[in-house]
Amino acid sequence: MDDLQNFKPSPEDFQKSMDRAKEMLARATNIAVLTGAGVSAESGISTFRDATTGALWEKFDPAKLSSMAGFEEDPALVWEWYITRIKQVVEIAKPNDGHIALGHLATIKPTTVITQNVDDLHELGGSKLVIHLHGDIKTARCLNECGWSDDVNTLNLVAGTTPSCPKCGGLARPNVVWFGEFLDPKVSYAAEYAVSKADLLIVAGSSGQVYPAAGLPWYTQRNGGKIISVNTRHSDHCQLADVFLTGKSGEILKELVSTLLP
Ligand code: NAD
Repeated sequence: MDDLQNFKPSPEDFQKSMDRAKEMLARATNIAVLTGAGVSAESGISTFRDATTGALWEKFDPAKLSSMAGFEEDPALVWEWYITRIKQVVEIAKPNDGHIALGHLATIKPTTVITQNVDDLHELGGSKLVIHLHGDIKTARCLNECGWSDDVNTLNLVAGTTPSCPKCGGLARPNVVWFGEFLDPKVSYAAEYAVSKADLLIVAGSSGQVYPAAGLPWYTQRNGGKIISVNTRHSDHCQLADVFLTGKSGEILKELVSTLLP
């Protein structure tokens, strides 16, 4: 499996795949794009695979830092991890060539971006129609049912402490979907609708291991749509893909979309 994951096509084979993908893009009339953490990697936001390789976090399991079980066990630790991630998004990250290419694409053909990312780099890159499957890291909400939800800046975020809900005094939590939690049904429906009616789905920077997002390409395939997969490694999405483009999504999406630009 490692051999397959690290497979690199010859330059000639890569070019053939790129040409085929460009033809598919030129023919498409309704496009959906499913993105994962890899699309933000070139902007300096680590994927989960890489997020815990730094000295500070390497001994922690990201699935635990992003789950209710982990939050119940140590909310201050989970908040400390999120404060680090929020800083990456707010202070460091800028949209990369991939986000910008998708912004351009939307000005040429009807395009819906469905992202598993909790950052706002697609919006900053110019995409207008963005469905966030897993929430928004810049907001928080109350763990109780008082209904409070607002920008994280309204909380007093201090590493090593757990912020309280300003409305009821309960625990505040990041407003993101954690492992084991359900997606908002309205968001889920909007994503299923977009991939079902797409005649082309581009899946970029996603491992295809986090469900239900990983199941979305089936809707496109079942309705006769084509699928292009973009990833630095072979991913679970490649099984369904008509074309697999190996490489960094920033470079590949820029090259792919350039075919439509004047
Ligand atoms: P993942 O970490 O499971 O997989 C990332 C994928 O991106 C891998 O297949 C990897 O090979 C690929 N990749 C890495 N760098 C790339 C690049 N430059 N170009 C193209 N591909 C690249 O991420 P996932 O599939 O999104 O699922 C994990 C969960 O992590 C999601 O729920 C998501 O919400 C969350 N997450 C979000 C962010 C963010 O908001 N930026 C960051 C990390 C994790």
